[in-house]
Amino acid sequence: MDLERHEYDVVVVGAGGAGLRAAIEASESGARTAVVCKSLLGKAHTVMAEGGIAAAMANLYPEDNWRVHFRDTMRGGKMLNHWRMAQLHAQEAPDRVRELEDWGALFDRTPDGLISQRDFGGHRYARLAHVGDRTGLELIRTLQQRTVALGIDVYMECTVTRLLTDADGITGAFGYWRESGRFVAWQAPSVVLATGGIGKSYKVTSNSWEYTGDGHSLALQAGATLVNMEFVQFHPTGMVWPPSVRGILVTESVRGDGGVLRNSAGNRFMFDYIPDFFRKETAETEEEADRWYDDKRNNRRPPELLPRDEVARAINSEVKAGRGTPHGGVFLDIASRRSAEYIRKRLPSMYHQFRELAEVDITAEAMEVGPTCHYVMGGVEVDPDTQAARVPGLFAAGEVAGGMHGSNRLGGNSLSDLLVFGRRAGLAAAEHALQRTGRIALDDDALADAGRAALAPFEREGGENPYTVQHDLQQTMHDLVGIIRTAPEVQQALERIAALRQRVADLSVEGHRQYNPGWHLALDLPHMLLVSECIAKAALEREESRGGHTRDDFPATDAEWARTNLVCSRAPDGSVALTRQPLPQMPHELAEIFEEVPA
Ligand SMILES: Cc1cc2nc3c(=O)[nH]c(=O)nc-3n(C[C@H](O)[C@H](O)[C@H](O)COP(=O)(O)OP(=O)(O)OC[C@H]3O[C@@H](n4cnc5c(N)ncnc54)[C@H](O)[C@@H]3O)c2cc1C
Repeated sequence: MDLERHEYDVVVVGAGGAGLRAAIEASESGARTAVVCKSLLGKAHTVMAEGGIAAAMANLYPEDNWRVHFRDTMRGGKMLNHWRMAQLHAQEAPDRVRELEDWGALFDRTPDGLISQRDFGGHRYARLAHVGDRTGLELIRTLQQRTVALGIDVYMECTVTRLLTDADGITGAFGYWRESGRFVAWQAPSVVLATGGIGKSYKVTSNSWEYTGDGHSLALQAGATLVNMEFVQFHPTGMVWPPSVRGILVTESVRGDGGVLRNSAGNRFMFDYIPDFFRKETAETEEEADRWYDDKRNNRRPPELLPRDEVARAINSEVKAGRGTPHGGVFLDIASRRSAEYIRKRLPSMYHQFRELAEVDITAEAMEVGPTCHYVMGGVEVDPDTQAARVPGLFAAGEVAGGMHGSNRLGGNSLSDLLVFGRRAGLAAAEHALQRTGRIALDDDALADAGRAALAPFEREGGENPYTVQHDLQQTMHDLVGIIRTAPEVQQALERIAALRQRVADLSVEGHRQYNPGWHLALDLPHMLLVSECIAKAALEREESRGGHTRDDFPATDAEWARTNLVCSRAPDGSVALTRQPLPQMPHELAEIFEEVPA
C-alpha cells in the first residue's frame, strides 16, 4: 500500500481552539508536535464563535470571581457537570484570556481600558471577553499565529479515519489527504482528539460540515468511553428563513445587548416560562428586566437570558401553540430597543448576516428565530486534570470531551473550555510521550486494514448514494431524537439507525480518490451513525428531563438521575453498550459555594 509515514511525540487531531491550544502547550513542553485537520488552518468551527469567552475577570463587576462562575456553570448544567472540570475551568479561564492578549489578541475595551465583558444567559455578571461578535476569529488568528511561529507541523485538509493502538495504548493515527486521496500515517505515543462536535447528524444545525462526530467515534472504536451523550444543546435562536440558511446561529449577544423575544401577539412570552429553579434570580416584570441592563446589582435578570435549554423549550412551545411567526419561529427584536448605531457597532456580523442572507435590516425590524442543534455536551470521558481518556496515550479536549458542561452548556463557556483544557491536554500528552519508554511501531496489518476499509466504497457497485443516507439520518434525528423526546419515538429512531447502518455498509461511490466529496461523506457516515446511536440509546435510558434532554413522557427532573451519568462503550460485537455510573462526589468546600452566593 502506498503510504506516507511520519513520526511525532504528540499528534493533535483538530485545529480549532482546543487543538491549537493543545499543540502550543505540547510543543512548548518539548514534544515534537503535529496538528492534523480536515479543513484549511484557520477554518475550524471555532472561527464561527461570535459572542465571547466566559472568564470571571471582574473587569466590570469586581464582585465576580471563580466561585460565582463555578456556581453559574454547575447550575446551568443542572448539577451534572464534573465538579472538578467546572472548578478548573472557572479558576483558570481568566489567565487563559490574559495569555491570549499577551500573544496579540485585540479585545474590545471598557472605558477604563480593561478587556470588555458582555452579558450572556446564565452568567450572573457580564463575563464574556469579546471582539465585537467575531471573537472566535480573533481567538483562532492569535493561536494560529503562535502555532506557526513555534514551527509546529500542520497537515491541512487531511482526515484521520482511525486511531492505532497496541497492548500499551496509542501508537498513532491513520488518514488520507482530501485532495489526492492518498494515505498517511503518523506514529506517536500521544494523540489529542480536538475534533469538535456532532451537529451534522441533525437536519437543522448551526454547525459546519466538519461536525460529523469523528473524534467521538474514533475514541469509542479505540476503546475509550463517552459520557452524557443524551445531552444535545438546541440553541434557541437560529435563523428560520429563508430555508437555505435555516439553522445559522443568531448569537445570544443579541439578547445580552437588550434584544427581547416576542410571539405573534407581540407578548414577551419568556415571563410565562420561568422555572422554579431560576425564579429567585429572574425578573418578574418587564420594567425590572429592562432596569437590569443598567443596574445589575439591584435588579434581576430578564427571562430572555435564562439558560439555553429553557429558552429553546419555551420557543418550541409558543410555536406549537400557534403563536409563532409566519415561518415557524418567534420574533427577536432589538430594533425597537437600541439605536441603529449601537446595533451596528455591537453586532456587526448579525447586521450583515441578516442583510445579506434574509434581506432583513435588524436595526429596523425584528428577526425570525427558532431552535437549532448547536452543541453536544456529551463526549469522551476524560480525567479532569489531564484530559486523559481510558486508552493510555489518548487525550481529548474541547467540544469532543465530555463532563465539563453537564446537561447544558452556558454560552461563552466553550471558548474558555477550549483554552483551559486544550492547554491541560497538550501538557499531559507531552508528558506521556516523553515518559513512555520503549519503541512503538505501527502494525502493518492494522495499516492495511485501515486502507482497505477506506477504499471499500469504491469496490462496491450499484450501491446507494451517501447523500441520501445522510439526509435520512438527519431527518431521523431531527424528528425522533430532537428537542422533545418520547420513548416510542427514540425506539423508532434506533430501529431506523440500525437500518441505516446496513445501507451504509452497502453504499458505493463513483469516480476516483482525487478530491471526491461523495467518498469523504461515505467515510464520515459510520461516525455519524455511531454517535447518533449513542445519543439515542442514552436518551431512551434517561427517564427524566434535564438540560439538553427533554422527555415528554418524563417531564420532571429525578433525584436518582441527578446522581447518575450514562457511559457508552463499544461491546465486543461492535454495538454500543450503556452503563450507569455514579456522579463524582463534590467536596464539601465546593458544595458550600451554593449556599454562600445568593441565588
Ligand atoms: C455559530 C457558532 C457560534 C458560537 N459562538 C460561541 C461563543 O460565542 N462562545 C463560546 O464559548 N462558544 C461558541 N460556540 C461554540 C464553540 O464555537 C465550539 O464549541 C468550539 O469552537 C469547538 O471548538 P473545538 O476546538 O472543540 O472544535 P473546532 O473548532 O470545530 O475544531 C475541530 C477541528 O477538528 C478537525 N477535525 C474534525 N474531524 C477530523 C478528522 N477526522 N480528521 C482531522 N481533523 C478533524 C476540524 O477540521 C477542525 O480543525 C459557537 C458555535 C457556533 C456554531
